[in-house]
Parts: sequence; structure tokens; C-alpha cells
Amino acid sequence: MTTPLSEILRTMIKENGPISIGTFMALCLSHPQYGYYMAREAFGAKGDFTTAPEISQLFGEMIAVWIVLSWEQLGKPDDLQLVELGPGRGTLMKDIWRGLSTRPELRDKLQIQLVEFSPRLQTVQKENLAGLPVTWHTHFEAVHNRPTIILANEFFDALPVEQAIFHQDAWYQRMITADDEDFLFALGAPLQGITEYGMPEFSIFEYAPLATSIMQQLCDFVKKNDGALLAIDYGDDFPLEERFGETIQALHKHKMVDIFELPGESDLTAHVSFASLSAIANEEGCTALPLQTQREFLTQLGIRLRAEKLLASATEDQAKDLQLSLQRLIDPLQMGDLFKVLQVYSNDH
Ligand code: SAH
Repeated sequence: MTTPLSEILRTMIKENGPISIGTFMALCLSHPQYGYYMAREAFGAKGDFTTAPEISQLFGEMIAVWIVLSWEQLGKPDDLQLVELGPGRGTLMKDIWRGLSTRPELRDKLQIQLVEFSPRLQTVQKENLAGLPVTWHTHFEAVHNRPTIILANEFFDALPVEQAIFHQDAWYQRMITADDEDFLFALGAPLQGITEYGMPEFSIFEYAPLATSIMQQLCDFVKKNDGALLAIDYGDDFPLEERFGETIQALHKHKMVDIFELPGESDLTAHVSFASLSAIANEEGCTALPLQTQREFLTQLGIRLRAEKLLASATEDQAKDLQLSLQRLIDPLQMGDLFKVLQVYSNDH
């Protein structure tokens, strides 16, 4: 199917030649006019996908508990700021703010910094977070130096990845070209730096240059200023040398579609390599805690107890809703095991 963006991409490829997978993904997600996050209502039943904070307030409340624990571990700095990367509709921050209402000694001085590159989503966030002490940025570079807790829920999976493809005993960058009807994959320049050989023909290795550089920047910041980082996403913990195969997927109205089918109108994501995020944290001198599943993390923070408390005063319908959303968040067959949680601290407090 053609979309306004598919026509732009086709013209671009005709004029300048094939583009890399990463360039394709970046344009699909963030083309100023037709990029997915710039133009489309992504979240919820009417959108294309649902995220943990959109499922239940329980999620944000548990993150609020984690923030209090981390703040205590950091020695209760009184100039703490809370940064969230890719806040979507602002729902997580709204629930966190309410969750922190029992801790005025933390909340009263807390400054919130949101990093969001979509002007449309910034507007949605401004509506949903009216009255909160929030500053918006389009890039993390603009965040000021001070003790900081950084949150990234379903942020890293939205960053463009590149793919290398193995052909006749060499690795090449995987590219995208186009004919009059469709987009097609193509071989690009040979790639140095991948040391695995003897792979089956057309094996694919995915790498994430933008996630890598953002993670380096975040950990460097946390190390210098003291702080912690929480990254929650769908992904895996495979060692990089065993991590072959492609994971890019496109979602449109809660269904998987081909990545070429609806450029700009389907959400493109890729599995996050948590082994690589943890390695970066350690290289930057921070401490990455052992990776947990979302189920382990939320259970440890007391999500079941909190749900029981809410159930005590819930109507029958609310109770049903609550139980279903608890299951969605922690059931191993739903988000519980696929979603992973990485905690990084500036030192071993
Ligand atoms: N955290 C939210 C939304 C996840 S969707 C939730 O859990 O519901 C990804 C979010 O990251 C969107 O808000 C998107 O606009 C933002 N985003 C994606 N890439 C970005 C980038 N490079 N810089 C800043 N924001 C980005």
C-alpha cells in the first residue's frame, strides 16, 4: 500500500540510491511531517499498541516506589531531578506523581525533565501533566547536571537499528531499495568489525548505533552527577556473539504487518539487547544490576499487595479490570517475561 511517506522514500531512493535499514526506520518514525511519532495517535485501543503505563496505574505506582528506594540509596539528595525519555502520553509520569504524594520530602523539591522529540506528543503530555513542575526537551543534551533518576519505558525499542547480512563469507550492510511497486532489500558496502564467520548464507546481525550512543551518554551523565537509570523494554539478554537474527517488527492497529506495508503508519520497533546496554553501563563506570524480568521487578516492589489494597474498595467491574491488567503486566505469557528491567546506579550504594 502507498502512504504519503512511502512516496517520499521511493523518490529519495530513486534520486540518491538505496538507504540503510536504520535510515528507513528513522524516517518512518521521525520524518517531520509523516513520521509515525510525529503524526499518528499510537497508543491505546484506537491506536497501534498499548504500553504498561497505559494498561494500569499499578505500573506507575510501582515505579514511584522504585524512585523512593533509589533516592534513599543515593543518600536522599535534595536537588534530585527526574528525567523521562520518550514519555508517550505522559501517563507514567502522572501515576508516578500521584504515587509520590505520600513522600512530600521528595516530591516537593522534585524537578521533572521530559525528553520528547515529537511536538505532537509534547502537546499531549502538556495537557496530561498540567500543573506539574515539568520542563520539556527534544534531546537529552539539554538536561542540566545534577543528581538524576532517568526512566526509559519502551524508549530503547523505538530507536532505529541497522542490520548486517552475511553473504559469500563476508558481512555487508543491509540496505533498502525500491522499484515502481515495492521496497526491496539490497546489499550495501562490506562491513568490518563483525568477527563471526562461517555463518549460514544471509544470516542477519542487528546492531543499534543510536541506542549505544544514547546509553553511553546517559551512563556518563549518571556517573558524573550521581544517580540511577531504569530501562524497561521488550528484549533479550543474549550475549552479542550469539545474537543473530532480525527482530524489527511493524505494528498497525495491534496487528503485525510487513515493515514495507505502511511506512509512517505502522510502529516500527526492534528487540533491545540488554546484554549490550548492561555492558555499556559497566564500561562507563556505573553498576548495572543483574537483569530482571518485568514480573520479578514488579512483584518485588509489591504490585500484588497494592492490587489487593485497590481490590478491597473496587466495584465488581473495577475488580475484574484490575485483575486482568495485573495479569497483563506480570503473567509470563503476557508482558511478564518478555519485558526486561535494567537498573543502573552511579556506584554500588
Ligand atoms: N514511554 C511511553 C511511550 C513509549 S513509545 C509509554 O510507555 O507509554 C516511544 C516514545 O519515545 C514516544 O513518546 C516517542 O515519541 C519517543 N521517542 C522515540 N524516539 C525518540 C528520540 N530519538 N528522542 C526523543 N523521543 C523519542
